[in-house]
Amino acid sequence: MDPVRPTHTRACPAADLRGPLHEPVELDRLTQRERQVLLLLGAGLSNKELSENLGISERTVKAHLSRILEKLEKSSRLQAAMVSVLHHRDLCPSPACQ
Ligand SMILES: [Zn+2]
Repeated sequence: MDPVRPTHTRACPAADLRGPLHEPVELDRLTQRERQVLLLLGAGLSNKELSENLGISERTVKAHLSRILEKLEKSSRLQAAMVSVLHHRDLCPSPACQ
């Protein structure tokens, strides 16, 4: 196996991708419920777990997720989960996280 070599370019290899690292996200576009779903998504919850945690159907969870991906211009739940983790302090209502 080849050792991992450092790349000697100045450019970030993730910069041109659609991931959340170098793009501003517009959390203001989300409804309160969507923010709640996004917050829990960052803890790695499945749709079933999200459904149980929020007391809504899995079908509704999926609808929220679709809207979240659309509004944040992300293409996967993993990208949305990363947004959630990176912006936890903005999303989390707990004073413990501020
Ligand atoms: Zn928190």
